Amino acid sequence: MAKEKMPRTADELFGGGLLGNMLQGKYLTEEVYAWFQKRHDRSKTLVVGDDGWYRRNGHDYKVPYGLRATALQEPLRHSQVVNKFPWYVTWRSAKTGKRYKKYFTTVASALVFVAEQAQYVDPQACVVSRHGYMIPPKLRNKIPSPYKWCPACMTARKFYRVRPEQFVYAMIRSRTPDEKGNYPYKERKLPLLQCRVCGTTTRDTYYRRSNQFWLTVKVKPGVHRVNRKARRKK
Ligand SMILES: [Zn+2]
Repeated sequence: MAKEKMPRTADELFGGGLLGNMLQGKYLTEEVYAWFQKRHDRSKTLVVGDDGWYRRNGHDYKVPYGLRATALQEPLRHSQVVNKFPWYVTWRSAKTGKRYKKYFTTVASALVFVAEQAQYVDPQACVVSRHGYMIPPKLRNKIPSPYKWCPACMTARKFYRVRPEQFVYAMIRSRTPDEKGNYPYKERKLPLLQCRVCGTTTRDTYYRRSNQFWLTVKVKPGVHRVNRKARRKK
């Protein structure tokens, strides 16, 4: 089979799926992935300075830590390559309170929109990833109640009960060790909560894992593997 040539514009890569916003199957190649990843890497240095600020075209915007530590740090995932619009920016109208959304192809273009336009309409305007991110290691166990890590907003958010009320069954890790030094998981019935900014619920896998109590493992210098049993001992 002849090798598929790279089209001239990124738009031509898409056109698959029901709405035409999915990558066409013939472009599911390493070369195309590399092209997307390169664009992603370039965008970081382009829009965010070393100090974490966006300073271009006369606009200043402090890029939230969560966004810098996740979306701008991690390589693109398959789901982000095959979807044309993995990002959106959301903001609320100061007059009516209505929430708006605008979709973007790259995190950089979403960031430019927040920094140069949306932040002036709503200082809380933010970039949302449609594909969740785990909590950055530095924030584990550190987010004060009642805030939780929102995987799509990539920041700490308050979560509210959905109406009408729903429940979720979740395995929750104990914060205190039992007599054997283990931190047992228990199944709990919890009211389903939702982030009002992006709609992510507490059923989300990334939410569940991120906001679980994290155990820290101290590894001695020179040790490369952690013995699972030894790690539980205090
Ligand atoms: Zn959210």
